[in-house]
Amino acid sequence: MTQIRTRIAPSPTGDPHVGTIYISIFNLAFAKKYGGKFILRIEDTDQTRSRPIYEENIFKSIKWANVHWDEGPDIGGAYGPYRQSERLSIYKKYAEKLVENGKAYRCFATKDELDEMRQVAKKMGKRLGYDRRYRNLSEEEIAKRLKEKQSYVIRLKVPLTGECIFEDGIKGQIVTPLADVDDQVLMKSDGFPTYHFANVVDDHLMKITHVIRGDEWVSSTPKHILLYESFGWDKPVFMHMPLLLGKDGRKLSKRKNPTSTFYFKDSGYLPDALVNFLTLMGYSTKDEKEIYTFDDFLKNFDPTRIGTSGAFFDIQKLDWLNQQYIINTLSEKDLLAKLKAWQFNDDFFEKLLPLCHTRMKTLGDFIALFDFIFVKDINYTDELLTPKSLAKADSQIILYAMMLLLEKQDVLEASKIEKASHEVADLFKINHKKIVMPLLFATVMGKRFGPPLFKSCEILKKDRVRARFLNAIEFLGGISNKKISSIKDGLEKKDLTELLLKAKA
Ligand code: GLU
Repeated sequence: MTQIRTRIAPSPTGDPHVGTIYISIFNLAFAKKYGGKFILRIEDTDQTRSRPIYEENIFKSIKWANVHWDEGPDIGGAYGPYRQSERLSIYKKYAEKLVENGKAYRCFATKDELDEMRQVAKKMGKRLGYDRRYRNLSEEEIAKRLKEKQSYVIRLKVPLTGECIFEDGIKGQIVTPLADVDDQVLMKSDGFPTYHFANVVDDHLMKITHVIRGDEWVSSTPKHILLYESFGWDKPVFMHMPLLLGKDGRKLSKRKNPTSTFYFKDSGYLPDALVNFLTLMGYSTKDEKEIYTFDDFLKNFDPTRIGTSGAFFDIQKLDWLNQQYIINTLSEKDLLAKLKAWQFNDDFFEKLLPLCHTRMKTLGDFIALFDFIFVKDINYTDELLTPKSLAKADSQIILYAMMLLLEKQDVLEASKIEKASHEVADLFKINHKKIVMPLLFATVMGKRFGPPLFKSCEILKKDRVRARFLNAIEFLGGISNKKISSIKDGLEKKDLTELLLKAKA
């Protein structure tokens, strides 16, 4: 019998997303149910966005959740390497094979040509941007261009008519007219494969039998199926899991919700509770039980009970579940151990000491100084978040601009945060000390004064700092997408002065 093999294939292009844990859990459960293997593959072919620190964080966050893989870049396995950047020659070989068989072709379109095609397509209301102009070049023409060393990509020759039909293991039959599928790029001009191509080649070579992934990939699946067919390979079963949704009913996004696993870790959630919570997303047990151990979940896992509609990521429910775990699964001794492992330890306190050493009359002042470090959320007030010289909407805009500048830092560092705060003051032409600083203190600490702000942000780390900015903006009434794009435009033009309503200080 074929061995069941599932995989998680994250791209190291950002903070470790809680969705990676969610999808890992179901892949692991599926593989275990059938005595199979669960693989971790790193999809780092996007050279501009992939970073080693993000890869490291993926490992750390999945391990924190106690989800273990059987093969992966760190532990190896029979089908390695498991990091796509180490498999470039493989993709090249397979892409050439498709070109030789007439299933793919070299496309020499320049950037200007592509821009023009896109504009024409837009004007004509066409769905596809690329007009397939290099699909039928003569052999001589191709040879001539290659001799001239013209740069090219390799595209799949997608059939012009017909349908792609597949049976999704969760959603049922999905039919896509091929007229809606473009001649996708398989190999980019820099010699790197695209996500679609590397993903399919690897799933085939790594003998993946079930591709269990988030619903956002369902529209890519016809492209993948066409690739399997072009190679003449057996297809895996595709199963698209319900999306995690934010309060607004949209896909959970870091622009609106905390999404990084580290946010949950550093905010004091227990990994077992978070994992239990994630198993409830889009899945229901036979007896409607909501609290169980991961082992129990694995033992009783029934893939037919995975739902089809999006799953609300309800933080209040997670809070409740976490409390149940603290009450019911931890003795007082265990609780002490958890507290110590979390933040009540020498390593963490050593980071805090330079910030409080000269600010304490008694030892107990430590608590008042650092309350904001240990609590999950800050209780905001209008007064706190709106310095006199600003309107409410102004505070939101300034906070959002600052948040976007912080986003650019992979890891927050005090000196860079300080620099960003000055940049914000300059771009809005407002007073750094009188406006920006009070607003930032209020947002991060819930008070106007406290220990050094920038060092404190560094200790809180990016995910919790971002969550505070989002909460403060939300408290002030939320911010429209239109305003967000004006802020982005302003940041690009290096001038945000037009955006504020009230007199500037
Ligand atoms: N690299 C893709 C991601 O970042 C993988 C999607 C898939 O599972 O096919 O999620």
